[in-house]
Amino acid sequence: MSRKPIIAGNWKMFKTVSEAASFFADVKGKAEVDGVESVICAPFTALPSLVEAAKGTTIAIGAQNLHFEDNGAFTGEISGVMLKDLGVKYVIIGHSERRAYFAETDEIVSKKVHAAFKNDLTPIVCVGEKLEEREAGETKNVCSVQTVAAFQGLSASQAAEVVVAYEPIWAIGTGKSSTSEDAQDVIGYIRSVIAGLYDDATAAAVRIQYGGSVKPNNVAEYMGQQDIDGALVGGASLEPASYIALIEGA
Ligand code: PGA
Repeated sequence: MSRKPIIAGNWKMFKTVSEAASFFADVKGKAEVDGVESVICAPFTALPSLVEAAKGTTIAIGAQNLHFEDNGAFTGEISGVMLKDLGVKYVIIGHSERRAYFAETDEIVSKKVHAAFKNDLTPIVCVGEKLEEREAGETKNVCSVQTVAAFQGLSASQAAEVVVAYEPIWAIGTGKSSTSEDAQDVIGYIRSVIAGLYDDATAAAVRIQYGGSVKPNNVAEYMGQQDIDGALVGGASLEPASYIALIEGA
């Protein structure tokens, strides 16, 4: 089963509309490499102009969150219907910052995954353990619980489309990345959890990224591991040269 590698930049709460436009002009034609999917997950405000700028390129645009209802009295929220309408293709769901600062539970993550599929958006679902959990030997258990919840109620054909991002929380934005062997060990385990929920063929189709202090100089090491299909990258995705180097490195 060959899985297409996917590098996704997670800009978090960085870049105005004009900064996003300038970034895109710099990476266009360069962060586009055959055989690697390139995705930029931007703040909501920058999405309309980025989707427009990405037309005719191989770069896909993603959001970093969505609400699980299609519409309603949810002040300040953005729905999957709205993202689909813009032409957005991907959406990050359950990032550890959202779980930590916005009380996003496994149940909410599951609802958001269903909302994404309902609106033809591909979810990039984040799972990963806290430092205390790793030290207590709970890494696999935590990732298993989060993975099972994220896939709850999905058909096998939907499951095969999900992108999972394994992001150990202690590695995010800290410069302390997981070793590629440790990341492979957990990601291989996540794949076995998905196989248990569905079957081997479905699990073999799911793309699983590593995230947490991925840089141009270590991306190839992760990509060399058999179960690691790409990276979700925060800090190193913000500069055009670094983003291009990540795509080339993959
Ligand atoms: P980082 O962030 O690459 O800056 O560690 C990764 C993420 O939060 O997705």
